[in-house]
Amino acid sequence: SKVPPIILNNGIEMPQLGYGVWQVPDDEAERAVATALETGYRSIDTAAIYGNEEGTGKAIAASGIPRKDLFITTKLWNSDQGYDSTLRAFDVSLEKLGLDYVDLYLIHWPLPARDQYIDTYKAFEKLLADGRVRSIGTSNFLPEHMERLIDATSVIPAVNQIELHPHLQQRAAREYHAEQGIATEAWSPLGQGKGLLEVPAIIAIAQKHGRTPAQIVLRWHIQLGNVVIPKSVTPSRIKENIEVYDFELDVEDLAAISALNEERRLGPDPATFDYS
Ligand code: NAD
Repeated sequence: SKVPPIILNNGIEMPQLGYGVWQVPDDEAERAVATALETGYRSIDTAAIYGNEEGTGKAIAASGIPRKDLFITTKLWNSDQGYDSTLRAFDVSLEKLGLDYVDLYLIHWPLPARDQYIDTYKAFEKLLADGRVRSIGTSNFLPEHMERLIDATSVIPAVNQIELHPHLQQRAAREYHAEQGIATEAWSPLGQGKGLLEVPAIIAIAQKHGRTPAQIVLRWHIQLGNVVIPKSVTPSRIKENIEVYDFELDVEDLAAISALNEERRLGPDPATFDYS
């Protein structure tokens, strides 16, 4: 594959760059995921709430790529938190994906006010012990949630998937994850393609390397050690977003991007988000 892996804390390899399918309708997901797989992506990031596990699964089945060469992530939605409901929701996701196991299962949000993520994670530990998932982890967990989870359960999460891009660099969370051996996965790595790709400093670095702004931002993540899952349904962009392994940012480029941090979220605050 074109994408080198990182090694998770359980010894399992995860491609450092994958393809995210949030906001891709189920009937378009099959085509989009097929394009990504043809382009060389081997890691796909979906979620029960995205409503496209079936389309994603169809593309996987049709691809003919050996299952062991793929890394499939899905996520447990908020309304399914709790031990028994998690086990039931997992069965539904697996059925929709048409798979025997997933490579990574994530708790989508911590929902601290509901206080169910410990029970939910204990069900994740059972799924892991039963061989139905190869790795378990979290999404949108703040260090305080992660600390409590680690104290109350036995398997340290392999991954925490959080909003992360040059306008929200998450230095404290990244440092905390590194201390705990948890991989940091960046959602909305391109800042949802909004203002970030028009920032003059990013454009200047892109011109210097003869690359696109999206490639510069993705390369920045890679050099920081983040896992990234950029989303696009445009074939030329799907291709562009994976072509980030044949150039390198220098210390000046990295410093210029580092200076763009505003700690500004595009998405909800995990401390208060409580939507089902
Ligand atoms: P992103 O940062 O990947 O940006 C995607 C958008 O950027 C596209 O819709 C397009 O408009 C633009 N874009 C993509 N490639 C481009 C290119 N080469 N040039 C110019 N513009 C380009 O945003 P995202 O979709 O929010 O995040 C990626 C993935 O992260 C999602 O698909 C999903 O899998 C995951 N995610 C997870 C959570 C969570 O709570 N765990 C939340 C949001 C997203």
